[in-house]
Amino acid sequence: LVKGLDALRSLPCETLDGQRMPLWVNTGLLADVTRAQERGAEGVGLYRTEVPFMINERFPSEKEQLAIYREQLAAFHPLPVTMRTLDIGGDKALSYFPIKESNPFLGWRGIRVTLDHPEIFLVQVRAMLKASEGLDNLRILLPMISGTHETEEALHLIHRAWGEVRDEGVDIPMPPVGVMIEIPAAVYQTKELSRQVDFLSVGSNDLTQYLLAVDRNNPRVADLYDYLHPAVLQALKKVVDDAHAEGKPVSICGEMAGDPAAAVLLLAMGFDSLSMNATNLPKVKWLLRQITMSKAKELLAQLMTIDNPQVIHSSLHLALRNLG
Ligand code: PEP
Ligand code: MG
Repeated sequence: LVKGLDALRSLPCETLDGQRMPLWVNTGLLADVTRAQERGAEGVGLYRTEVPFMINERFPSEKEQLAIYREQLAAFHPLPVTMRTLDIGGDKALSYFPIKESNPFLGWRGIRVTLDHPEIFLVQVRAMLKASEGLDNLRILLPMISGTHETEEALHLIHRAWGEVRDEGVDIPMPPVGVMIEIPAAVYQTKELSRQVDFLSVGSNDLTQYLLAVDRNNPRVADLYDYLHPAVLQALKKVVDDAHAEGKPVSICGEMAGDPAAAVLLLAMGFDSLSMNATNLPKVKWLLRQITMSKAKELLAQLMTIDNPQVIHSSLHLALRNLG
């Protein structure tokens, strides 16, 4: 098995009929970097910056953040590293910044927190920009965007941070900026959001939770949490079509992208890259190398006519088993 994985590492992720699909990884700790490299990742689709914040006892300073971000950027250079701005709230708490709410997933989380605290956002973005000096492989991703007003405000702050950093003598280009599509409202505004930014990334963990009104961490309703639900599949297809209509690339970085069977459908929908936990990368690559793009598209078209989630699951697994 290890030998098989080793051989797979140097092979491209492409279908039998030559369709390439870049496989990226999700990271949080520096330890994730080694695993990602061993498995042949082509970039970082999601670096969860809240991880270093969560293991700290206070807000890390600009200098401390710079050092942490520099490690990630340098480790993957020249491959792209997509750094998401602080996404706290919901289930992600900082001991030194308690948020008490009765409905945290519908509350103060992600971009909402950092737009209310621009000083936290500016320090973080300055640290990211400085960390990218001479490397230029940084991409900035904004979490929990629900509309264009938030992107506009965040872009304004990013430009301000960029100006400040340049005033300090750090000569860096403006990095690409993207938004997460993980709130249903954003699905319906994909075109407008696409016009504001350079790329999109779907957060299928939150998008599934919010589309189906199922808490992603509640075991009692875990059976209802299903990223193959027809409503989720339709939403994902719409996001890809609308982003492409505006000429913008779209990735997906939720757990779904690391499920090989689901990855076949994401390939067929036209996602430009898949970002996943490094552990799942070889499995996804292996399966995508066993299928043709036309077969994947045929399968997607067939599954998108089914309205029962159970039948979608069984049809998908049966079709993939028949591949051999
Ligand atoms: C998601 O919501 O799918 C996502 C990738 O972000 P997180 O899991 O960190 O909320
Ligand atoms: Mg999310």
